[in-house]
Amino acid sequence: MSGIRPTGFLHLGNYFGAVRNYVRMQDEYTCYFMVADLHALTTLNETKELKGHVRRVMAENIACGLDPDRVAFYCQSHVPETTELYLFLNMLAKVGELEKTPTFKDKIRLQPQNINAGLLTYPVLQAADILLQRAHLVPVGKDQEQHLEIARDFAIRFNKRFGEVFPEPYAFNFGENLARVPSLDGAGKMSKSENQNATLYLADDDETIRKKVMKAKTDSGAEAGSPMPESIGNLFQLLRLVAPEETVEVFMAHYMAGTIRYGDMKKELAEGMVKFIAPIRERAAAIQDDDAYLRRVMEQGAVKARANAQVTIGLAKEAIGLVYY
Ligand code: ATP
Ligand code: MG
Repeated sequence: MSGIRPTGFLHLGNYFGAVRNYVRMQDEYTCYFMVADLHALTTLNETKELKGHVRRVMAENIACGLDPDRVAFYCQSHVPETTELYLFLNMLAKVGELEKTPTFKDKIRLQPQNINAGLLTYPVLQAADILLQRAHLVPVGKDQEQHLEIARDFAIRFNKRFGEVFPEPYAFNFGENLARVPSLDGAGKMSKSENQNATLYLADDDETIRKKVMKAKTDSGAEAGSPMPESIGNLFQLLRLVAPEETVEVFMAHYMAGTIRYGDMKKELAEGMVKFIAPIRERAAAIQDDDAYLRRVMEQGAVKARANAQVTIGLAKEAIGLVYY
């Protein structure tokens, strides 16, 4: 089980941290993937944008290879059982621990004018999404690791207090560490809602991709043997995502010898990104315009997701003692 907030355009980080894993998991696991529109309400000022964002995130996931016929692919608000479990879990959540969550502290710094209770209980809603499908594995990027710990903690707490209902969920990435795709300016990660000029979006056109990559931060050229600055390490990390191993090795050898030309490396990176992004962008654009198809996807996703969710809610209510006849 996993989800993405409809807060903007999907980017390379979403792809390598999340969607790539979704696509691989759909062959081996029973999967529940959703567009987290309720989560988006904690930070969106303008809800008129939601409809477009939801449709685009859905289209972009499908364009990346997610198959709505093989998984449950749904919209969070179409599964009202989510909010029911959210309420139960809120009774187990401690205000003090929620206030200490680093993502909450970040968010109140970013939007001091709107510190709503939804922001505080964001990890509770996320735990509800995951536990509602009784998920074992949650494919997410590195930035979500702490939220997963919180979700696991809720599962353990609930089971201890009321009886065994939920498996303990773990953050998941195929065979490797959780991914973190850095932003091109080296200031944080690529993101839908921050660092937008230093994030490569799956909807960016070829020229925009080239421009963003060529502006990426580098240094004035390494001295042989000096430790690699973070911005350069990031460029290599990005190149590894889209270029063959041999190409990366050539640039690395130049780096080590102090003869690297960052202009050449960025050109290689830009062309790799263009080749990777263009087909996804084109597929997504076509899907996004197909009203009937998107409607069918959302309807069938909700049916699958609710069927499993209702079983969970039944189990949870019984465990809590909310069954009276
Ligand atoms: P927002 O800025 O609105 O929070 P976001 O880009 O952080 O957007 P989310 O919807 O919060 O995206 O996260 C969706 C998924 O993408 C999560 O699994 C998250 O871990 C992953 N993800 C987001 N950014 C990155 C990144 N830069 N590298 C790897 N994974 C990422
Ligand atoms: Mg995020």
